[in-house]
Amino acid sequence: MQRKILVVEDNEINRAILWEILTPEYDVLEAENGKEALDILAVDADKISLILLDVMMPVMDGYTFLDHIKNDSRLSLIPVIVMTQSDTEADEIAALSHGATDFVPKPYRIEVILHRVKSIINLRETAAMINELQYDRLTGVYNHEYFYQMVKKRLEEDPDGKYTIVCSNIDNFKLVNDAFGNKAGDELLKEVASISMRSAGDTGFCGRIGADRFLVFQKTEIERKDRASFNPEIDFGASAIFKNITIRWGIYEIKDRTIPVEQMCNRAMLAVNSIKGKYNQFFKVYDESLRDTLIRERMMTQELDRALGDEQFMIYYQPKYSLKDNCIAGAEALVRWNHPEFGLMSPGEFIPLFEKNGYIPKLDIYVWEHVLISMNEWRKNKIDILPISVNVSRADAFHFDIVNVLKELTYKYGVDPQYLHLEITESAYTESSLMIVETVDRLREAGFVVEMDDFGSGYSSLNMLSRMRLDILKLDLEFTQNETSKKEEESILEDIIAMAHKMHLKIMAEGVENESQLQRLKKAGCDYVQGYYLSKPMCEDEYLKLIITAKEA
Ligand code: C2E
Ligand code: CA
Ligand code: CA
Repeated sequence: MQRKILVVEDNEINRAILWEILTPEYDVLEAENGKEALDILAVDADKISLILLDVMMPVMDGYTFLDHIKNDSRLSLIPVIVMTQSDTEADEIAALSHGATDFVPKPYRIEVILHRVKSIINLRETAAMINELQYDRLTGVYNHEYFYQMVKKRLEEDPDGKYTIVCSNIDNFKLVNDAFGNKAGDELLKEVASISMRSAGDTGFCGRIGADRFLVFQKTEIERKDRASFNPEIDFGASAIFKNITIRWGIYEIKDRTIPVEQMCNRAMLAVNSIKGKYNQFFKVYDESLRDTLIRERMMTQELDRALGDEQFMIYYQPKYSLKDNCIAGAEALVRWNHPEFGLMSPGEFIPLFEKNGYIPKLDIYVWEHVLISMNEWRKNKIDILPISVNVSRADAFHFDIVNVLKELTYKYGVDPQYLHLEITESAYTESSLMIVETVDRLREAGFVVEMDDFGSGYSSLNMLSRMRLDILKLDLEFTQNETSKKEEESILEDIIAMAHKMHLKIMAEGVENESQLQRLKKAGCDYVQGYYLSKPMCEDEYLKLIITAKEA
């Protein structure tokens, strides 16, 4: 394929000469002035290998034209040879200072022109190729292949140096793209790339791996200093869109140099994956136990279906109490996994995993159905039914039509929806608010009671409250414990409760562990309480015994 050269020259004779010189080897396009040349470039910029430019031209002179293309990122990489009137130093300087790649003096000498044109095109293309091979187009950091190569090289050159690989990940990057568009997504990536470059400093470097992950290779001592002064509030400058973006880091300190570089990077990635979605945890250092956890997690995921079929999951009930009436007001259903090998596992060990890998809906539906089966049996056995709360994961709303599933299940087991309370975790509200608002409305229309779980656990939600119609606000365990330990003047507990009441919401506090917390909540006007001080989660039989004796008393 012949390379294309654009000749910009007003003198017809000169154009003819150049055409004569160049056409045996090149495709020649011609323009009479800068403006015409810009029109051609607007269409064909990608196909043009080089521009030969005259300086003195009507309409738009050569230097004005040069200024134009040097300011346009699509054009600025096309090499330009300026044809000067003479061979003086002043002409040379003028050409080069306007961004020309090279210059040739008039009158033309065939050999000189052909030689310059050829070598400049060559140089440009080699540089472009190397660039393509080494750098990520969007952000300018190394691409992952080249990053691996450079790490390898540095480790060989510096056998005693202590180095660390850091892998970053942006929470819900896909959502940013979906919600704000790919352009905003690109901007965010560029910001994260420049954050990474800053932290790499002069002695390190960065690469991009996958859509939203960056790798930083740096001196261990520098990375440790960064870590010590770490501040999760990243400054994204003026960009308001990015206010709620969380970035997390996984850290692998290179100790074993015998493993391949790719695996070192994997370890950093593993570390960052392990804190995905965790509240208030922004970095994680890789250690061997992480690998064991991963193996165990993979096993649990593979076994989930069988475990559901074998009924390995058990439901415990933790009573809730009404402070007004001084009696049991129902219970929260909490799942346990009775694993044949690992024994009784608490939900903390598997719920976050299933939320992360998208399996949680299966388990939640299982729990809801088994709770309803039990309630149906209680009713048949003439046991007074009190409301039972089940947990609803934020992922559920994205995976299936919660409202219909719950309607069908309650219908199937003859349970009035008002006896099923739904605890939706607070972070769900902040993440995809519009959709959740709508789902909550539909759930309440269908007669279910909706509780906001974990209120006060850190996501800003006061705002959200005014936009949502809910029934009950459930104060997070830590929030309850912290606020009740403060003096009344310093605590916001009383204000939150008063505000909730104004909005016709009931308040439930979880994590009540002693008498003083209980008294404080009572005084503040809290409606319901739950906690080890009153009752721990218990198996179904025990729970039934409790409500039957409570009724007799
Ligand atoms: P959660 O919904 O905030 O549930 C309260 C957790 O606090 C329960 O832990 C409960 O046993 C514990 N707890 C209750 N009172 C006290 C207390 O006085 N002091 C202390 N220190 N802890 C107390 P559990 O059963 O380990 O559940 C942990 C989390 O797992 C739950 O937090 C919930 O988010 C999730 N979970 C449990 N069952 C399910 C389920 O069926 N589906 C889903 N999606 N999540 C579930
Ligand atoms: Ca809950
Ligand atoms: Ca909680």
